[in-house]
Amino acid sequence: MTRRWIFGDQLGPHFLDAADQPVLMIESSRVFARRRFHRQKAHLVLSAMRHRAAELGDQIDYRKAATYRDALPSEPLSVCQPTTYAADRLVRGLPDVQVLPARGFTSSRDEFEEWAGRRGSKRLLMEDFYREARSRLELLMDGRNPAGGRWNFDADNRLPPPKQPTLGASEPWWPTEDEIDDEVRADLDRWERDGTASFAGVDGPRRFAVTRGEAVRALDDFVEHRLPSFGPHEDAMLSGDDWMSHSLLSAPLNLGLLDPLEVAERAEQAYRAGDVPLQSAEGFIRQIIGWRDYIWHLYWHFGADYRHRNALHAEEPVPQWFTDLDRDGEVQARCLSEVLRGVREHGWVHHIPRLMVLGNYALQRGWRPDQLTDWFHRSFVDGYDWVMVANVVGMSQHADGGLLATKPYAAGGAYIDKMSDFCGDCRFDPKKRVGDDACPFTAGYWWFLDRNAERLQGNQRIARALASRNRLADLDDLVRQERARSSAAP
Ligand code: FAD
Repeated sequence: MTRRWIFGDQLGPHFLDAADQPVLMIESSRVFARRRFHRQKAHLVLSAMRHRAAELGDQIDYRKAATYRDALPSEPLSVCQPTTYAADRLVRGLPDVQVLPARGFTSSRDEFEEWAGRRGSKRLLMEDFYREARSRLELLMDGRNPAGGRWNFDADNRLPPPKQPTLGASEPWWPTEDEIDDEVRADLDRWERDGTASFAGVDGPRRFAVTRGEAVRALDDFVEHRLPSFGPHEDAMLSGDDWMSHSLLSAPLNLGLLDPLEVAERAEQAYRAGDVPLQSAEGFIRQIIGWRDYIWHLYWHFGADYRHRNALHAEEPVPQWFTDLDRDGEVQARCLSEVLRGVREHGWVHHIPRLMVLGNYALQRGWRPDQLTDWFHRSFVDGYDWVMVANVVGMSQHADGGLLATKPYAAGGAYIDKMSDFCGDCRFDPKKRVGDDACPFTAGYWWFLDRNAERLQGNQRIARALASRNRLADLDDLVRQERARSSAAP
């Protein structure tokens, strides 16, 4: 049987054709030397690869080298399609390597392209893609109809947080580190000492699964204890509750340790058994077979140049206090400092802090989308090229001119105040847009609209906001104030 070359995000059994297939994996040190990753991300990826190698024993040829090319053996290999343009180009350019279709997603690239082709000039709406996928995969369906008679529970799943310090969901399951983690930690310490690599964020206990066994355990625990409360407060943020009811499964999913279809099926089984309300099961399955697959397919569909889009001409560099994850405690705006603390401590925050705090702030300030994409990729434990590009360039920065999202995800302090407990004792007031205590998000929102008024003209979904900006008596003062703030930490 041909040896299967697996990459560090193809670690589950579904990337092999048989349990005893010979395997090749290459640990490339150049990857870490090139970019400043979060310490916990580097740890997670290396630990996962080395755990897989230990599991496979004699079955694997595990090589350490500077680059992939340096380590390739001279024998025929097969590989499942890699998840980046660069790796895809590399494997397709090698004479003795057979490239198989991608695995680790619930729909194939052909299925997506067939769907996209059928739409003609109609927008590639996630909702429509998701409904077709649900029917095709027969997930949460009663015959031809959606279970419970509804496809979408979004409106029920956007509640503000309850007025309490935590959501009250049970603590997530955490893995226990072992001697492979000790070895990884020692390597990372050594690379930092000898200057081979440098890392952002703090080292911490490993919080995410690195083996198939751990990943299944994390999935079981989530479905049993936390999925029932996943839906309603999906978009809410609490400073005393970093995890809320989120699954924390993006890291093991993106490492290839879990097959997304098995994850969705587990959620459906829990609903059918009466253990999980429909709105929670649907909300979760929508993320897995809807959003996750949609973002993956758009990465390829929009092409290699999509990452360089910059429709709003955002040219400001991402400032250092941000890339350093507010290490020196300069940020006073409580939402931003709390979210950067989360990234610094865990390399993870949930979707709304990513979109409506970090992404929103960058959008308002006109930071370069390509730099921001790179920062997200390096700083998050679940960050990979395929998942970052459409999420950052398209969803969060509107840099694609509206291909993915119909309007920019820009919002002022009122949204953050409604959806979190951050604003209570913040030194800024979300209702103020000018003055010493003016909220940088509220002022930033109007500044963003004003700067981009011409480019956004014609977008019906933002027309009202654009019109009301002209009625602000203090707009000139606000613009002066925000220009002066420039890239300083708010
Ligand atoms: P849950 O809330 O429990 O959701 C379940 C699963 O749905 C996730 O594990 C993930 O696999 C999937 N999912 C949901 N939304 C998305 C999405 N938009 N894109 C892809 N998968 C999705 N997700 C990543 O996996 N890696 C990233 O690097 C990443 N970067 C992001 C950057 C920005 C600016 C934004 C707005 C979103 C990003 N996301 C990313 C999507 C989403 O925020 C994370 O998947 C999620 O927060 C991970 O936590 P969780 O596993 O607890 O998710």
